[in-house]
Amino acid sequence: MTIPGAWARTARSAMLLGVDGELRPTVFAEMTALAATTGAINLGQGFPDEDGPREVLDAAREAIAAGVNQYPPGLGTLELRTAIAEHQSRFYALDVDPETEVLVTAGATEAIMATVLALVEAGDEIVTFEPFYDEYAAAIGLSGAVHRTVPLPAPHFQPDHDDIRAAITDRTRLIIVNNPHNPTGTVLDRAALEVIVEAAHAHDALIVTDEVYEHLLFDLPHIPIATLPGARERTITISSAGKTFSTTGWKVGWLTAPRELVRVILAIKQFLTYANGAPFQPAIAVGLRLPDEFFRGLAADLKRKRDVLSAGLTAAGFSITTPEGGYFVVADAAALGFDDAGEFCRALPSLAGVVGVPVSAFVREEHRADYRSLVRFAFCKRFDVLNEASNRLAGLSTR
Ligand code: PMP
Ligand code: GLN
Repeated sequence: MTIPGAWARTARSAMLLGVDGELRPTVFAEMTALAATTGAINLGQGFPDEDGPREVLDAAREAIAAGVNQYPPGLGTLELRTAIAEHQSRFYALDVDPETEVLVTAGATEAIMATVLALVEAGDEIVTFEPFYDEYAAAIGLSGAVHRTVPLPAPHFQPDHDDIRAAITDRTRLIIVNNPHNPTGTVLDRAALEVIVEAAHAHDALIVTDEVYEHLLFDLPHIPIATLPGARERTITISSAGKTFSTTGWKVGWLTAPRELVRVILAIKQFLTYANGAPFQPAIAVGLRLPDEFFRGLAADLKRKRDVLSAGLTAAGFSITTPEGGYFVVADAAALGFDDAGEFCRALPSLAGVVGVPVSAFVREEHRADYRSLVRFAFCKRFDVLNEASNRLAGLSTR
């Protein structure tokens, strides 16, 4: 049966349609299922395997017990919006009005989708870096916009400033930035961010910045693009509690933006979910107000995990790019004799009992050759899990 609708365009754009026209799940779902059926260690999908702060978990339990179980307001509870505004002020000296400039969403996922659907017309251009988080392509496909990319070339994954300038034109409606970057772990420096803001001004484009890994930087401070001169009034900043508080399953995210933009994004968001996560919203407000030591400890712990997995991958024979932020390390399997990371990742559970994700899943067909042998491994896992994964991978070179 041929089923009409926008699904095929969206799936094509998100690279979920095989050449045979068959619809595939996202690479994250595929690889997590593969880990489940083979019993392999899942370093594919990015989610932590330990709970986040006790205060946050307790606050959610208390909220459920206290009857906070009905629809919250569409914008999110004022308590959480206030905590988000306080967080922007405390960490970045950004002055955000909790009444009008904050929107709570069902994860960063909904914030991204609602923003793209609200702000573009079919035929507009949207610029992303490439590799890109797969949802950007899905949202672009669903909106009918045209996707342009700026390459992040291996092995350093830093953009060329002229490539940024060339991609952003009068046809550009949105520039989607992801900093720190999934899958590469790249952190954009101030100079690159300035080039983006300048180009956005020159061509009257809006900036959508996905900063879900804002608290997961290892040696550098996080620079929200909205803090650059002239950026705030044209920037939608997106984040998520999932990453910062290890609550990916709660799906509490948010965006901050000028009030006119929040109003029109809400117009779409209210018909996607209306609202979600009533008892989780006060709990995330507690999390956002935790002392600085919590945030510092989170990044320090993750840095040690990065180092453990990076050492394991290097010892196993991969060449790696050391990530500056986020959950993931990109490893080149070519040195081990594997040129096709897609095939390699499908075979890895039986070769070594580990699951990773091919970077090609974040890259368009025509650019796949440039990233062909690269694999993304998640290191947001317990130390014993990372050590065991390293031991298993060490066997690869002696097969
Ligand atoms: N953006 C990026 C770059 C991500 O890596 C993720 C999740 N891994 C999301 C958005 C989605 O976040 P959420 O789970 O809050 O919807
Ligand atoms: N963002 C997570 C990752 O990159 C996965 C999220 C999802 O599966 N939708 O691994």
